[in-house]
Amino acid sequence: MHSHDNFYLDRFIETVGRDALAEIQIKKFQIMMDRILESNEFYRTKFAPAGITSSEDIKTLDDLRRLPFTTKQELSADQEAIPPYGTNLTFTRGKYTRIHQTSGTTGHPLRWLDTEESWQWWGRCWASVYKAAGVQSDDRIFFAFSFGPFIGFWSAYEGAHFINALSIPGGGMSSYQRINAILTHGVTVLVCTPTYALHLAEVAEEQNIDIRNSDVRITIQAGEPGASLPGTKARIESAWGAKCYDHAGATEVGAWGFECQAQNGLHVNEGEFICEVINPETGESANEGELVITNLGRVGMPLIRYRTGDRVKLMGEPCSCGRSFRRLEGGVIGRIDQVVIVRGINVFPSAIENIVRRFPETGEFAVDLYRRKILDEMELRIEVRNTEPQTFATLVADEVRNALGIRVKVIPVPFGTLPRFDLKARRFTDHREVN
Ligand SMILES: [Zn+2]
Repeated sequence: MHSHDNFYLDRFIETVGRDALAEIQIKKFQIMMDRILESNEFYRTKFAPAGITSSEDIKTLDDLRRLPFTTKQELSADQEAIPPYGTNLTFTRGKYTRIHQTSGTTGHPLRWLDTEESWQWWGRCWASVYKAAGVQSDDRIFFAFSFGPFIGFWSAYEGAHFINALSIPGGGMSSYQRINAILTHGVTVLVCTPTYALHLAEVAEEQNIDIRNSDVRITIQAGEPGASLPGTKARIESAWGAKCYDHAGATEVGAWGFECQAQNGLHVNEGEFICEVINPETGESANEGELVITNLGRVGMPLIRYRTGDRVKLMGEPCSCGRSFRRLEGGVIGRIDQVVIVRGINVFPSAIENIVRRFPETGEFAVDLYRRKILDEMELRIEVRNTEPQTFATLVADEVRNALGIRVKVIPVPFGTLPRFDLKARRFTDHREVN
């Protein structure tokens, strides 16, 4: 019999009451603050005008809200002014042992350094992701990604060591070679982006390989949101014959979110992070809005009240898994700056994805926005197979109109003709003039 304890990394912290959790968070924060205020130029300079010179100034989570936000623009400007790493460094250069950078889909990539201590912290955060999904030490984990300078899967790899599972790197391979590696090693856990999980399944199908009956029993989706969308999750689970779990994190922040076996919302790892949700316009606390995160174990290059740019919605009642960590409904809904306004209606790309993925007849898709005369028009190109394309296009268009209240022109295209992605899929193109 499985002990339920198996699924926690630290049962005490994960299930302790909210008040006690807040105390633990503040204690961790104060320890970190003492070290930062001693020698981190970026945060010393930032906090001095607010009169914060000692960790004793922050005794509660309410006190924390007096601190100014940290933004990506600020970090970018700092690294540009003092290249290559900026001034958010608590220690001398020699103390750092790892370097990664953001994938830079918007603006300059941020470079981020970790000390041995903070790299261990990353591993611990990922261990929570694995534990919550039910990954055990006898699992064999395959990492289907290129092992470039992007942190996501390096840290996942580190975390696998933390729970004593077997790690199999999938860098420098074609999709076909990766499928073969999965079969050869009897892989039980697949870690990749949600888009790539679907792509791999597609390649397996083309090669007449029955991936549903492989040993893979769990997939963990990282690197981009999507696995919390019911349509996408169901699609991945059916393609792989496995349970699909969402994960969220960012290079500069850490591996902050995981899904438990209740699969009902994305937990924030509040043992290692302090999370807030704010109205992005006013900065006031909100139930739905922008996620603001403070990491508690990355002293070497920390982030305090960082505006992640992720749109999220807090869930109310506690989770049936027993954790007291807060949950986000539907995971990361999208990037705040990704929301598009079509004829006055706010649309997140994820909402379209969720609809498209519900139909097994579809493959990849692409959305283009145009302004024709004075009206916005949305075009959705979808790969279609095993059905009559025009009738099917009408069906999808109806579904989008019913669900989102917008009219969309659906254009069926042959299977395999739209771009494939292995990291950070970009399916939305806005051709409208910015005015
Ligand atoms: Zn849970």
